[in-house]
Amino acid sequence: MSGHLYIVAAPSGAGKTTLVSMLLASDPRICLSISKTTRSPRHGEQNGRDYHFIDVATFLAEVENGEFLEWALVHGNYYGTSRRLIEARMAAGYDVLLEIDWQGAQQVRKVFPEAIGIFILPPSLVALEERLAHRGTDSAETVTRRLAAAREEMRHVSEFGYVIINDDLQQAYHSLKSIIAASRLRYKNQKKCHAALFSALLG
Ligand code: 5GP
Repeated sequence: MSGHLYIVAAPSGAGKTTLVSMLLASDPRICLSISKTTRSPRHGEQNGRDYHFIDVATFLAEVENGEFLEWALVHGNYYGTSRRLIEARMAAGYDVLLEIDWQGAQQVRKVFPEAIGIFILPPSLVALEERLAHRGTDSAETVTRRLAAAREEMRHVSEFGYVIINDDLQQAYHSLKSIIAASRLRYKNQKKCHAALFSALLG
């Protein structure tokens, strides 16, 4: 496999989806893994673009068949990453970005210890509460449940190599781009991408 694997995690409301969309729009070498989920589509979401929406029986059958690189139960719904799709993308040289939760990240690290983990934090608890309440797509009960889940998610920040505090969107985006740029400049990667130069210079 040649591409890198990036895991981006965040509590709901930290601005992860916006940042990831900005990154994908600016860098054709990165592709997003489209997860499978048993949750219902939200308004405006499209099957195959945002998620592959499948029923619980199909999801559990795929778990049984070992089709997932990782999967988890998040907020009462199943989510999983297709092993086959990821491996094909990486083999084609793409960097693949996984937007998954801490449980999935732990499973991915076991298979790909070199995966680069990035965790996005909100600038304060108050800002997080406001962002969750203003989201508008979920009921008050769901918002309360998501706030509790957000705090649980944030307890796992130490498991990620990089942390971005999303106070200012442009600054956070710049930080995300910097992490990607730095990971591509690692010795191992440079040696692989510029094999002829290394051999000419170093003999
Ligand atoms: P949402 O339903 O709001 O799109 O996502 C809820 C949570 O599920 C987010 O924390 C998101 O990162 C996580 N999630 C989405 N796809 C996957 C996946 O394939 N695997 C895992 N483990 N978590 C996922």
